[in-house]
Amino acid sequence: MSEPNLSTKLFAAAKAVIPGGVNSPVRAFRNVGGEPFFVRRAKGSRIEDVDGRTYIDYIGSWGPNILGHAPVAITNTIHEVAKSGVSFGIPNPFEVEMARTITEWVPSVEKVRMCNSGTEATMSAIRLARGFTKRDVIVKFEGCYHGHSDSLLVAAGSGALTHGEPDSAGVPRDFAKNTLVIPYNDPEALDAVFAENGEAVAAVIVESYPANAGFVLPRPGFLEHLARVTRENGVLLIFDEVMTGFRLGRGGVQGIENLAPDLSCFGKVIGGGLPVGAFGGRADIMNMLAPDGPVYQAGTLSGNPLAMAAGLAQLRELAGKGHGGHDGFARLEQLGAHFENGLRGLLSEKGVPHRLNRVGSMFCIFFTDREIVNVSDVTKQDIDFFRRFFHGCLDKGVYLAPSPYETGFLSLAHTEADLDDTLGVFGEVLTEI
Ligand SMILES: *Cc1c(COP(=O)(O)O)cnc(C)c1O
Repeated sequence: MSEPNLSTKLFAAAKAVIPGGVNSPVRAFRNVGGEPFFVRRAKGSRIEDVDGRTYIDYIGSWGPNILGHAPVAITNTIHEVAKSGVSFGIPNPFEVEMARTITEWVPSVEKVRMCNSGTEATMSAIRLARGFTKRDVIVKFEGCYHGHSDSLLVAAGSGALTHGEPDSAGVPRDFAKNTLVIPYNDPEALDAVFAENGEAVAAVIVESYPANAGFVLPRPGFLEHLARVTRENGVLLIFDEVMTGFRLGRGGVQGIENLAPDLSCFGKVIGGGLPVGAFGGRADIMNMLAPDGPVYQAGTLSGNPLAMAAGLAQLRELAGKGHGGHDGFARLEQLGAHFENGLRGLLSEKGVPHRLNRVGSMFCIFFTDREIVNVSDVTKQDIDFFRRFFHGCLDKGVYLAPSPYETGFLSLAHTEADLDDTLGVFGEVLTEI
């Protein structure tokens, strides 16, 4: 018998002291079978595991690493800033620059509060919406993930208009019942929920382009309809752009769709790979937050100087000021289109039933020929085929998300050569499985 590799040993050791061996469940490979590898280092588009194998990475730390891994602009900034201290719990200048940058790039955001994760951002935005409207009910969409706070960890089966059932043990039914869940892309379900509960609803929260159960796009007019009915009912509209914000362009989905939600949530890209979250929006709503207003929200490490400086360095690069004067978003679109064209050609050539959604640097392949309208379509793809595809790619050095319900990410460190190599691997794997 050969010596078990280092990842196998580390995972066995991890399982003894960390639940499931991981600090976030999807990392455990439960959706694809097998065991995760452990990372030694990563640079650009490549990850190297502790056993010395390298992979072209299409996760980018689940979204934050839009410049690729360990970009010099960010690592240098972190080194420099850290010499002056890593946390103060006292205001620092980077917080002001970050807030100014967010409000400039996202015009619907007049004021913004920083926090430490996307979960904190959505949790706080919900509390603020309830405090502002003096209403309790939240409407969310099936399959949209907004982090793991109690009010939002509800997806409630497939039925429209059902009262929320918690998605996790430990969420009191009394909390979940204030969260109504309806299908995405279904304007009738939205109208029905408002006809019945209109005056009770504080806010509708939506992943404007849902990217945590595959990558689903809105049908024409759906987001406009959502914006209109929320406005007509005095209900706040919250765009959860933790994933899409600062990734799909300067203004995120709201910039693309030309919409102005009342509140928006951010995270991932704006932290440059350090823990971060932010929520912001209309000044009259944001002014309800402590210390000015009655809605309490706080954080020991919020506005952390390293996270702010790393995030600002990343945004500067994206804007092109540090990237040879090119707009990073235009380059990401170029890479995305190159990948998409190759992928469509390949999947058709191999006769693989598929749907492919892509916007800019985000993509998702669904192994089905069913139209992808919402999460119920996503779950009907050929999951077993995905598992074999995933492991085939992994064996050949291409790392996709270890779940058929995740979005893939390109970064500015990916090259056309990386993408072509990846398509070559896909071609071999599709022939073998
Ligand atoms: C990742 C994500 C979150 C949660 O962010 P964390 O930093 O993991 O807490 C919330 N909403 C969306 C849309 C996300 O993609």
